[in-house]
Amino acid sequence: MTAVRSITCHHTAGPATGDAPSLAVVRDGRGDLPGPLAHLVLARSGTVHVVAAGVCFHTGRTWERWQSNQNAVGIEAEATGHDVWPAAQYAAYARLCRALADHYGVPFARVLGHREVAKPVGRKVDPNFDMAAFRAAVASSEDDMPTADEIAAAVLGRRIRNFHGDTVTLEQIVVATEQRIADAQNQLQAITDALHDRLVDDNA
Ligand SMILES: [Zn+2]
Repeated sequence: MTAVRSITCHHTAGPATGDAPSLAVVRDGRGDLPGPLAHLVLARSGTVHVVAAGVCFHTGRTWERWQSNQNAVGIEAEATGHDVWPAAQYAAYARLCRALADHYGVPFARVLGHREVAKPVGRKVDPNFDMAAFRAAVASSEDDMPTADEIAAAVLGRRIRNFHGDTVTLEQIVVATEQRIADAQNQLQAITDALHDRLVDDNA
């Protein structure tokens, strides 16, 4: 993908039972179209499965380039297309889109249904809910996805036992490792200098 500039919502039109029965098809593709067919699969329970990174084949022809596979994160929600959506799944769909939009800086107006981006009009019908209402739900959703900085801070702040049995943070280990590398480089330089001096003395 060149950049993430939109988010496309789909439904699988898959089996009527099971939490995510279409997961393998989305990952591996089907006879006429190789996988992956979307980046994410949203199960009926609200669980999100990460399927793939990079280009996925989920949009087909679109009106705008920023709606195409090169620029759109694709989400396949497990649904038949005619049954009522479980409340947990719908809420998770909105929160997922909110987290993605915030993370990639995508405006909520670019959280679009497949049927809105598919060219020509009427080529696709998914997802089968009101997209304006869904975008309003996205806008009012909580975003509890941590930022990259928050993840780094949490990881670096975690305390573990080091080689000597002391309890330290990962940040302390990184700093100590860098210090040891610098010490080793200095010692190596001192040895190199001493050898050089001896060679010069021997030749004198
Ligand atoms: Zn679709």
